Amino acid sequence: MSDPKDFTHFGLDPLLLAAIAEMGYATPTPIQAKAIPAVLKGKDVMGAAQTGTGKTAGFGLPMLQRLLSHANTSMSPARHPVRGLILTPTRELAEQVADNLKKYASKTALRVTCVYGGVDMDPQTEALRKGCEIVIATPGRLLDHIQQRNTSLSQVQIVVLDEADRMLDMGFIPDIERIGKLVPFTRQTLFFTATMPTD
Ligand code: AMP
Repeated sequence: MSDPKDFTHFGLDPLLLAAIAEMGYATPTPIQAKAIPAVLKGKDVMGAAQTGTGKTAGFGLPMLQRLLSHANTSMSPARHPVRGLILTPTRELAEQVADNLKKYASKTALRVTCVYGGVDMDPQTEALRKGCEIVIATPGRLLDHIQQRNTSLSQVQIVVLDEADRMLDMGFIPDIERIGKLVPFTRQTLFFTATMPTD
């Protein structure tokens, strides 16, 4: 019998459960207990959560689960379109989220990469051009890569806005609106914020 106090009852793939066990997670945090089943069902989710609450696994694990059927080891970039997009306000958060997602996905063939401004574009370009199912990005740099045709968002199934309130404060709304027009209308949207701005 699976215990509702551990991770086994969500129906996550054994490859994800093994990664979680390796990270030492035993009990889901409250936001994980709420978000994981809702995201797995394909629902749009809006969550009020600060860093430190376990929100990254709250959206990351069910996102990986939903994309797992697309995991493959082909060398062809065409077999690895971006399917999950996570937007963050800062380089630091992008790196932190990517570190976690890479660990959760470590036993799967899903590829995770991270792009943000203020650094050389070339290594990011190379990673994007090889193909990558999950991209964590700051909005401006992502648009630069799209403009240079280094990646496309036409196959995106899940979009996460992480620390959406900070993105609002930092003036990223026009960029996010532009990105919103480049992803399919049918995508699932997950929205996480520490505070709930009226905008
Ligand atoms: P986050 O709020 O997503 O930045 O996560 C904060 C920290 O808690 C990170 O170091 C995670 O690795 C860790 N963490 C997330 N979920 C759990 C869990 N269920 N059990 C133990 N640690 C966790």
